[in-house]
Amino acid sequence: MKYEVILYYYFHPIEVPDQFCRDHKEFMKELGLKGRVYVSSEGINGTLAGTVDQISEYKRFLTGIEGFEKTEFKSDLEEEIPFARLTCKVRKEIVAIHHAGLNPSEGGNYLAPNEWRQVLENRDDFVMIDVRNNYESRIGHFKGAIKPDVENFYDFPKWLDDVEKEIPKEKKVLMYCTGGIRCEKFSVLMKKKGWEDVNQLHGGILKYAKEEGGEHFEGKCFVFDDRLVVPVNKENLAPVARCEITGKPADSYINCANMECNKLFICSEEGAELMDGCCSEECKSNEYLRPFDPDNAFKPFRKWYNYFNDDFKERELQKE
Ligand SMILES: [Zn+2]
Repeated sequence: MKYEVILYYYFHPIEVPDQFCRDHKEFMKELGLKGRVYVSSEGINGTLAGTVDQISEYKRFLTGIEGFEKTEFKSDLEEEIPFARLTCKVRKEIVAIHHAGLNPSEGGNYLAPNEWRQVLENRDDFVMIDVRNNYESRIGHFKGAIKPDVENFYDFPKWLDDVEKEIPKEKKVLMYCTGGIRCEKFSVLMKKKGWEDVNQLHGGILKYAKEEGGEHFEGKCFVFDDRLVVPVNKENLAPVARCEITGKPADSYINCANMECNKLFICSEEGAELMDGCCSEECKSNEYLRPFDPDNAFKPFRKWYNYFNDDFKERELQKE
């Protein structure tokens, strides 16, 4: 494992985001990092990859900036860099909920992964909300979570309006997302709307997977880079989702080969072959089809399955 992939965010006012972004990009470019960083007047949100040395130099750089000393990084070691390029952009929000005036310092109570696990195991009376998009929660989620059928994070305020009456205000609320950033905003919204006991998984699914081994989580975790999917519970790797074409268990994603659609959907290799990489018959008959290359499209998943098959075999051997 030669490369390190990090995910991080930090809310702290940045006075001149344009300048901050330019300086940041220059440093990262010089260092040779790949990935995606968003800068806004409210802080920074990024995911980057490089060698272990490059990443530790970047961490020193970011935590050396006044106000960003306490940035926490979720980290994974990988055999390949899961980004084609480096982008650094100024955005209105570092995570877009399109709802003004949500200050993360007024958010929910942080639960460390071990505390989160305790709450789940004590079976307290709570509701648990998966604060991610439908295509993310479909392939993996905590057992018993509500999985809102939304396609974008900024659809969550509307979703909350729709279900407001169904979740009593005095009920204990648990929420989680991939790395924690979406809960930083959504928890503020819930508190503003009157829920009192709002709790968020600190560091998200990724940190929980590292520290608690993924217990109580079913399936895998979607990530916004070329890996697309990472394991959470290594003891239970069976897909919880189904191929949208064949209906058989699958948790690999492809983008529809119809360039006018390009929808990211859950598809097995078998389903992709049947449909030339398209999500529907309608798309299949469209004239703007990208040539479908299964070797390329399924590369992240094949590599990954092989890796875990080896891992699985090794564990089985150890048992003998
Ligand atoms: Zn399509």
